[in-house]
Amino acid sequence: MKLQNTTTGWGRWAERLGAAGVTHMRRVPTRSPKPLRPKLLAGSRMLLCLYIALPLDLAAQDIAAKVFTHADTLRGSNTPQRSWWDATFYDLHVKVNPADSSISGYNSITYRVIKPAREMQIDLQLPLVVDSIVQDGLELSARRDGNALFVTMIAPQKAGTKKTISVYYHGKPTVAVRPPWDGGFVWAIDSLSRKWIVTANEGLGASAWWPNKDYLADEPDSQRVAITVPDSLYDASNGRLRSTTPNSDGSVTYEWFVSNPINNYDVAVNAGHYEHFSDVYQGEKGKLTLDFFPLDYHVDTARKQFQQVKPMLQCFESWFGPYPWYEDGYKLVETPHLGMEHQSAVAYGNHYKNGYLGRDRSATGNGLKWDFIIIHESAHEWWGNSITMKDQADMWIHESFATYAEGLYTECQQGKKAGAEYTIGQRKIIRNDRPIIGAYGVNDEGSGDMYDKGANMLLTVRQLVDDDSRWRGILRGLNKTFWHQTVTTRQIEDYISRQSGLNLGKVFDQYLRTTKIPTLEYKVEGQKLSYRWSNVVRGFAMPVKVTTATDRLGWVRPAERWKSVAVKLNRPEDFRVDENVYVNARDILKPVADSTTARKAQ
Ligand SMILES: [Zn+2]
Repeated sequence: MKLQNTTTGWGRWAERLGAAGVTHMRRVPTRSPKPLRPKLLAGSRMLLCLYIALPLDLAAQDIAAKVFTHADTLRGSNTPQRSWWDATFYDLHVKVNPADSSISGYNSITYRVIKPAREMQIDLQLPLVVDSIVQDGLELSARRDGNALFVTMIAPQKAGTKKTISVYYHGKPTVAVRPPWDGGFVWAIDSLSRKWIVTANEGLGASAWWPNKDYLADEPDSQRVAITVPDSLYDASNGRLRSTTPNSDGSVTYEWFVSNPINNYDVAVNAGHYEHFSDVYQGEKGKLTLDFFPLDYHVDTARKQFQQVKPMLQCFESWFGPYPWYEDGYKLVETPHLGMEHQSAVAYGNHYKNGYLGRDRSATGNGLKWDFIIIHESAHEWWGNSITMKDQADMWIHESFATYAEGLYTECQQGKKAGAEYTIGQRKIIRNDRPIIGAYGVNDEGSGDMYDKGANMLLTVRQLVDDDSRWRGILRGLNKTFWHQTVTTRQIEDYISRQSGLNLGKVFDQYLRTTKIPTLEYKVEGQKLSYRWSNVVRGFAMPVKVTTATDRLGWVRPAERWKSVAVKLNRPEDFRVDENVYVNARDILKPVADSTTARKAQ
C-alpha cells in the first residue's frame, strides 16, 4: 500500500487488542525524540506512538522501549494452533448492511491437516461476534483470547486429510479511521451522497471483517468472495465474477472467485455506483482481460487516465516477467481511499491525477508524468501479492521493490537517467529513524524507509551488478523462482547474491538492519586518492564507482581501513561518487561544519 503518516493507528489498534496484556518487551534503536511530523508517505502505522522520546545527545541511551503484547504474538506468529493446518480454500460469504454498519456471514475454511491436533486458532477481531462454528455437522466450542478464537476439535484430524470448518459470525466491524492506513470497513458516500462501501485492512488484518488464519505465511490456493449488498450497489471484488444473484430482501449477491493464492488482506469489498468498461492486453502469457470500475460519473475521465495501464503492464512484464494473475484478470476499482494493492482488483483513489495526489514524491518532475497509484499499487501484483512476505517485519519485500518499480516505470517512459533521477529524488524523504526490518513474530512493520531507502538500496545493488540484462534477469528470476509464494528476507537476499555472483550480505545488513548511511571518507592529495568506509557494519566492503580521472568513473573497493590509488584529477574538487549509489561522501581534509556554530549563525 502507500504510505502516509499517522501517529495514532497503533495506539488505537493496541487499545482494541486490549486486555491480553504485555508479555515481553524489546528494545529498539530510535533516533527521533521529536513529535512525529506529518510526512508525505509513511506506511508504519502500527508502532510509532509507543516510542519513548529521548534526547538526541544521550547516544548511549538512544533507544526506546517497544512493547509487544501476547495478542501481537497470537497475530504475528505461527502458533501451535496454526501450524498444524494449511489453508487451501476460503469460501467467504458476507452480507453488508449499510443501514446499521453491520455485516454477517460465514467463512468455510478448507484445510489440509499437517499433523493431528485438538485445538485450532482462527482469527476474528472484536467486536465481531461468533454465532457458531461447525465441522462435520457438529457445533464446536471455542474460547476467545482477544482477537483469536481457539476451537476445540471433535472430529479426528488425520495428517494428510482435508477438512472443512465453518465459522458463522456477525457484528459491526472496525471502522477505518483513516483508510487505507488506519484500516477497516469504510462506510463512505460518493459526491452524489450515495453509499460507497469498501474495505482496506493491510496491517490491521483481514480478520477485522472475516474469520481466517490471519497469518501472512499461509495463503489459500483459491477463494470465493461472495458479497451481498443492497441492490442499488455493485460489488467489485477480487478474481472473476461468477454469478449475480438477486435476493428476495432487496439485496443482491456478487459471487467472485479467485483461482490463485491470495493474501487475506487483499480480499476486498468495493460496493458502489460503478460503471464498467473493459479492454484486453496482449501480454507475455497471452490475452489479459482488463476491467475498470470507476464511479459512474467518472467514466469519461477514467477512460483517459486508465490508459496508463497498458504501458505499465508492458514495462513491468519486461522487467519482472508475466503479470501473475492472468486467470483472475487485472482490474482497477475506484475507492474513497487513496489506494491499496488488492490482488487482481487494485483499489484506486488518486482522483485521476498524475503524481501522488498531484504531487511528485521525487521532486524531480519525473513523477508527474504518470499516475502514482496505478503504477505503485499495480507493481505490488508482482512484489507483495505474487511474492509475499511471510512476516510483517519483512514488508520491505513488498514496498522497496514496488517503490523501485516507480523508478523503473519512469525509466521505461522517460529513459534510464530519468528513472535513476526519480529514485535519487526520493532520498530526501528518507528518515533513517529505525531499521527497515521490524521485529519478527509480532506482526511488526519496520521503518517507513522501506519505501524510499529500500528503492535506493535496490538502485545501489543495480550499480553493483553493473549489467542491466543481468539485473533484469534477477528481477524476473525472483518472480519466476518465488512465483505465488510466501518468502523470507533471507531467501530474497540469497537469491540476489547468488544470481549476481556478489556477496551482498553486508550490503543488505547495512541498509535493512541499521539506520546508518555508509560514508566514504576520502582525501585527494596530488594524484593520490585515499579512501575508506565509515559508519558501516563490520566487514562492509561494498565497491563503488568514483572519479578516478577527470570526468571518468572507475571502481574502487573501499574497506574500513584506508586504501589509496593513483588518480588523474585536475583539482581535488573534481572528485565525486557515483550518484546512483546511496552513500555519503566526506572529504576529510575539509573542516567539518560545527553544528553549534551553524546554529549561532542562523
Ligand atoms: Zn505499497
